[in-house]
Amino acid sequence: MAKIPYKIYLSEDEIPRYWFNMKAVMKELPDPILNPATFEPCTTEELEQVFCKELVEQELNTTDQFIEIPQELLDFYRMYRPSPLVRAYCLEKLLDTPAEIYYKFEGTNTSGSHKLNSAAAQVYYAKKQGLTHLTTETGAGQWGTALAMACAYFDIDLTVYMVKVSAQQKPYRKAVIETYGGKVIPSPSDTTEAGRRILAEYPDTGGSLGCAISEALETAVKTDNCKYVLGSVLDHVLLHQTIIGEETRIACEKYDIRPDMIIGCIGGGSNFGGLIAPFVSEKIKGRSDVRIIGVEPASCPSMTRGKYAYDYGDTGKTSPLLKMYTLGAGYIPSPSHSGGLRFHGMSPIVSKLYHDGYIEARAVEQTSVFEAATMFARSEGTLPAPESAHALRAAIDEALRCRETGEKKTILFGLTGTGFFDMTAYMSYNEGSMVDNIPTDKDLEKGFAGLPQAPKEALLK
Ligand SMILES: *Cc1c(COP(=O)(O)O)cnc(C)c1O
Repeated sequence: MAKIPYKIYLSEDEIPRYWFNMKAVMKELPDPILNPATFEPCTTEELEQVFCKELVEQELNTTDQFIEIPQELLDFYRMYRPSPLVRAYCLEKLLDTPAEIYYKFEGTNTSGSHKLNSAAAQVYYAKKQGLTHLTTETGAGQWGTALAMACAYFDIDLTVYMVKVSAQQKPYRKAVIETYGGKVIPSPSDTTEAGRRILAEYPDTGGSLGCAISEALETAVKTDNCKYVLGSVLDHVLLHQTIIGEETRIACEKYDIRPDMIIGCIGGGSNFGGLIAPFVSEKIKGRSDVRIIGVEPASCPSMTRGKYAYDYGDTGKTSPLLKMYTLGAGYIPSPSHSGGLRFHGMSPIVSKLYHDGYIEARAVEQTSVFEAATMFARSEGTLPAPESAHALRAAIDEALRCRETGEKKTILFGLTGTGFFDMTAYMSYNEGSMVDNIPTDKDLEKGFAGLPQAPKEALLK
């Protein structure tokens, strides 16, 4: 076997031509999406009021293991895919570990993260359906940027409700979105009923993802030829991200790399679900015992400390109900520097895999995340996004454990993006002013208390 190159690039022809539908291989399916008014499963028609038609079809598809990627979309993917699988030789050396470390690097496009994979797909289907306008929310700004790029390419108008603190802290993110032609509205705003309601109750709030989602949803429903698109959590978003996992699997097979451990950061769970899809599928079939670890911030610990329950996706409590690990839609996490991981809930697919014991979860504190990010930047050169550095932290911890035990494990993690717009966070770490905000059990109780209760009639069924 030839020495493994620093960067493994597949050829353009090797880009997968299909997405991998996890639900077709899961032994038990996640519980269905419910209408919050009736507690009955949402019908196709109900979901189509909010989402694009073909995305709803993907959301509800539990039978086709492979779903074809349309040619027009493959043409877009070709501009920045395949993404490299990198052997972290320099990090291994720094850690003096016998472990082999690999990372799948999704930060090679201008938006700076994996989010473009689903943004392009969602905008493509919106265009195909004849829509002219989309709305969304963005927290850290990566999703808004990715979507603005895709909307520019497919020629669709875009309104982005950007969490107010992010819009203030990351003016350059806002500028990039505007450069691609997107309209940015800091949230909460007075442009929607949900926004006005939240402002009346909390006039000084810096906003939250859940609150921005409420505003984007409302605008989509009230605007002609307009739908709402979401950057994570839902099954169709995870589906689009499986291109990451399929490329990874193909590269691993080509070079006979057999990961003992696959690690990803989890915000809404789509990048992680996409990365692990083909690997967890082998595990479900009993053909692999690879360890799969999702890493979340200790400040927003939906998997490690949340409840597995039906909950809203948004603070305004207007979205359909998802069965997931959640801290409660009313939970507003402390303002950590990993905006992309500050969501109260988790992908229903990832939640179900965790509930059924196929994957593990771990929470890490942000100062230790930035310590890992700095080690990585100084050895590998790439400046990681704070979100990605959660996975990196766990990968480094596992590699250090191998140094203790002498085991030569193969560790693979997802490096979801770059951190060029996160310099405020790096500055705070560099000057020693970064703190770890870990919620107490009492803090979490408040979020759990707001979980939706089924009406009596629904419980009697
Ligand atoms: C949004 C984001 C995440 C979180 O992704 P999920 O798929 O929601 O878990 C991780 N890393 C980066 C760089 C992001 O932009």
